[in-house]
Amino acid sequence: MQVDALIVGAGFSGMYQLLRLRDHLGMKALALEAADGVGGTWYWNRYPGARCDSESHSYQYFFDEDLVREWQWSERYPGQAEILRYLNHVADRYALRPDIRLKTRVTAARYDEPANRWLVETDTGERYSAQFLIAAVGGLSAANVPDIPGLPSFSGRWYHTGEWPHEGVDFTGKRVGLIGTGSTGIQCAPVIAQSAAHLTVFQRTANYSIPARNAPLDDAFRQYVREHVDEIRKVMHASTNGHPFLFADRSATATPPDERDAIYRAAWEKGGLRFRAAFKDLLVDQAANDTAAGFIKARIREVVKDPARAAILSDIDHPFAAKRPPIDTEYFETFNRDNVSLVDLRAAPIVEVVPEGIRTADALYPLDIIVFATGFDAMTGAFLKIAIEGRDGLTLQQAWRAGPRNCLGLQVPGFPNLFTITGPGSPSVLCNLPVAIEQHVDWVTDCIAWMRERGATRVEPAEEAVEQWLATVQAAADATLLPSVPHSWYLGANVPGKPRIFMPYAGGMARYRAICDDVAAQGYPGFVFD
Ligand code: FAD
Repeated sequence: MQVDALIVGAGFSGMYQLLRLRDHLGMKALALEAADGVGGTWYWNRYPGARCDSESHSYQYFFDEDLVREWQWSERYPGQAEILRYLNHVADRYALRPDIRLKTRVTAARYDEPANRWLVETDTGERYSAQFLIAAVGGLSAANVPDIPGLPSFSGRWYHTGEWPHEGVDFTGKRVGLIGTGSTGIQCAPVIAQSAAHLTVFQRTANYSIPARNAPLDDAFRQYVREHVDEIRKVMHASTNGHPFLFADRSATATPPDERDAIYRAAWEKGGLRFRAAFKDLLVDQAANDTAAGFIKARIREVVKDPARAAILSDIDHPFAAKRPPIDTEYFETFNRDNVSLVDLRAAPIVEVVPEGIRTADALYPLDIIVFATGFDAMTGAFLKIAIEGRDGLTLQQAWRAGPRNCLGLQVPGFPNLFTITGPGSPSVLCNLPVAIEQHVDWVTDCIAWMRERGATRVEPAEEAVEQWLATVQAAADATLLPSVPHSWYLGANVPGKPRIFMPYAGGMARYRAICDDVAAQGYPGFVFD
């Protein structure tokens, strides 16, 4: 089948890209989606407690103010099912479904240079040909199950949170082991503990977490959102991470300790990701970060009654928010329950899975169910799972062997007319993603429109522009504490053999948008058209 543009993925990114190309540029565009429903992340991640950490009024599309005004979120942070309903509503409201092929995984895409077409293969056997290929495959969609010896021998059931069964998992009466204490593990532990006979949390890396303080939204707040769509959007566009709040213009180290403590206490009570915006220097100055880290560790020790457990949970080895900062609903409180235990894997690592459960260096933990909250092959995994072949037989795997290379996180040299949405080299996972997604999709759409106006049929970044951008991404990361965490998935450290490169652009969403806008306004310097 021949189309103008083929989009891979039908989550937030793919659906909006389809809408823009089809309805605004009048292109024949088609989205191919592996799942049997739209929604991406929120289709796959159905684990207990799955919830967004972005506040609901900001975790939505803003391209159509009527859509913002019509949709009523029920809670401060939307749960998985509600976001999935929202994305299905979007698919219906904009009549996207006829142009989405579900249960269709793209397996290969080859650039045919003489024809200037992408030839795309799928697991259904269908073949497509398109001038433009837009990979909207998601930065957190390739589930990562650690390669623990003996896992196939386990006599119980095991699940990865990112591929959760639609029928759910009944934990009643079961001994459950949870591996992973990142954002997902921290969300699901309290919920699993409520129904399991026993929950054992296997912790390798202790983590900070801020109380989410989730609550139902009242009519007054909903009314506020309806009446202030433009203002909310402006704040999100001006903010470092695309959230609907700005960083306070004050330094943690320059604030007297009593005052600083009061600010942290207020931020702790308010809850959520806003905590890290309490001071402007938390991610750039170790001494400033230490003040936040100390405050949170003290709260953990206050909440967790057993001093030994509190010590393990608060023995955190990295700066606050230098890894993805989790927010929670009663995570640390969960360790006060009688049916929950904590295993410190730094003291005694996992050795193997055996038929009865998990064996660490010093004990055997009998289990009926193992839950892997071990995250994703982030940012590059879903792109590299597709056999993408560009100009002169160059594969994406070869091009990215030493780490992802691209310009603005949008285009890879040697792969003409391929665009990546929220790929590495863009702010993506450091952001409230719908903001980053809308910006990327709009940039790609404008670029294609610009080409069509000028009769250009092909676009690709120049090597010098790529080198410059990689240096910019590195410099932005080096100006922060973010690359200082050797075990961070931002660096690819959770996937064996993955190059250790800090992948997202850490200079902030607002600055990134300004750079991209400038490139477009100047006629796309650094990109070659013909
Ligand atoms: P996805 O939603 O990942 O969609 C990509 C789609 O592409 C998927 O449906 C996938 O099936 C499909 N696909 C991939 N490869 C192929 C292929 N080869 N062929 C066909 N289809 C393919 N972001 C925030 O901003 N705030 C949060 O609080 C937040 N919480 C999160 C919590 C969890 C548990 C996870 C996993 C992610 C979270 N995110 C959060 C990030 C979230 O991924 C984004 O907000 C957003 O949903 C990304 O949309 P997307 O369309 O770019 O990617």
